[in-house]
Amino acid sequence: MTTNKRTAKATQESLHSIFTIPEAPDSTLGLIEKEISENLAGFLGNHIAAKERALSEIEKDFASSAIPEEPSFVSDHTRHILDKVVAQSVHTSSPSFIGHMTSALPYFILPLSKLMVGLNQNLVKIETSKAFTPLERQVLGMMHRLVYQDNDHFYEQWMHSANHSLGAFCSGGTVANLTAFWVARNNLLKADGDFKGIAREGLFNALKHYKYDGLVILVSDRGHYSLKKSADILGIGQDSVISIPTDGHNRIDCQKLREKCLELKQRNIRVLSIVGVAGTTETGNIDPLDKMADIAEEFQTHFHVDAAWGGATLLSNKYRPLLKGIERADSVTIDAHKQMYVPMGAGLVVFKNPASVASIEHHAEYILRKGSKDLGSHTLEGSRPGMAMLVYASLHIISRPGYEMLINQGIDRARYFAKRINQHADFELITEPELCLLTYRYNPKAVQNLLASSSAEQQDKINDLLDDLTKFIQKRQRENGKSFVSRTRIEVQRYQGRKTVVFRVVLANPLTSNEILNDVLVEQLELAQESETFLPDLLSLT
Ligand SMILES: *Cc1c(COP(=O)(O)O)cnc(C)c1O
Repeated sequence: MTTNKRTAKATQESLHSIFTIPEAPDSTLGLIEKEISENLAGFLGNHIAAKERALSEIEKDFASSAIPEEPSFVSDHTRHILDKVVAQSVHTSSPSFIGHMTSALPYFILPLSKLMVGLNQNLVKIETSKAFTPLERQVLGMMHRLVYQDNDHFYEQWMHSANHSLGAFCSGGTVANLTAFWVARNNLLKADGDFKGIAREGLFNALKHYKYDGLVILVSDRGHYSLKKSADILGIGQDSVISIPTDGHNRIDCQKLREKCLELKQRNIRVLSIVGVAGTTETGNIDPLDKMADIAEEFQTHFHVDAAWGGATLLSNKYRPLLKGIERADSVTIDAHKQMYVPMGAGLVVFKNPASVASIEHHAEYILRKGSKDLGSHTLEGSRPGMAMLVYASLHIISRPGYEMLINQGIDRARYFAKRINQHADFELITEPELCLLTYRYNPKAVQNLLASSSAEQQDKINDLLDDLTKFIQKRQRENGKSFVSRTRIEVQRYQGRKTVVFRVVLANPLTSNEILNDVLVEQLELAQESETFLPDLLSLT
């Protein structure tokens, strides 16, 4: 902590200096800059406190709502940030933190991010972004090609065309999904005769004009919660996102999907979009996209693929076939900030038809003039940073074969971990990894045997105790700060679809070794023994 606090003054001179004079190399900020550019992992390891403080304690550091009347010296405040913020943040890039979809970043991201922030380009319009606009269009072209594999001529024709867009870059998968449905909705309920289109007249008049009794989105019960937000904002309501049951591998049941489409048609309810998930957030499974595309075609419905997390798998020639059928989607969401190792704030949606974004086109007099190449005329967000540059740089520096290695290694590592869990008498694998994500839980051999010979009712009782134990272990492990797995609740078929608490692991960090994975299990075994009620209660049943 700072001892005798210096006081700064808000003067013209001091204000001028914070815009012009960089901190000296040996100042706190200068030293941080040096340390993070030389060794980010070391810096984070040194400054993030391992042992977790209670959130209620941390909140006390952020209690005042008063805007300071007195300025702080840069160095003093930087020290304050190190103590109060950095120390209490989460070490997302640690190789033993295997519970998040946000992973480690390659070191070049740091200086390039600084460059991007320093340039402070605004991608909403050409006037404030210049080269960043064609760069972003090129990135969208590359990602479009990754999904749809059209030929050179196609990209020459559309990539930089003012009135078309191969996609939209945005802050993440949520906005990407919303943009996809916005486009689908406006194309479905477009202007027709006297009706000026939903964009002008709204949902009420649109349904009246087209004589529909409702509008729904269909997705498996593993769909991401962002779809409900979209439905809410688009005016059709969260209950209009209809969940279709999944099979034993967490993939949508296509027969049930088709039956639902038939039923809705009879009820005069229009399907706005069928959504395939390529890499479910909880289990990492991929829907049968090809079959879903057939159904979407049969019912003349927009087909969207939410590949926010799993889309990067397309960079692997080996695993690309798992997503077969994605090229038939009308729109596809991919988050570069998940499996493409780009920092957060990099999502995108690509459209099969470069003309489809016309349905959400907006113009204004001072910017986004008709015929301009301003990206803002086809995006939900207005002012937007040049994040596309980081995707651009990663695609060049890592390249497709580099990404393929990262993707393949992640999947191999997940399979290794699944094998270890299966081999271990006291762990139970809940979902097999299809990509680099799996779920499991601690479940002692004796309890596993008991479950196998129990009635459904008894199973529920045992599983309730196991849920408590899983929660206990996960929380303790997080608090200890050595390693981290996440936790979710999913329906497990082997227990009659009971919602069961499980550990969830995402293995995208190339620095996560087999040894680290083994250590995670060892730690969980030890933590289980620390439980004073759940484990003894369980064992007393056996
Ligand atoms: C992460 C995720 C989203 C949401 O993306 P954000 O970038 O968090 O907004 C949507 N769908 C799926 C399948 C995801 O994994």
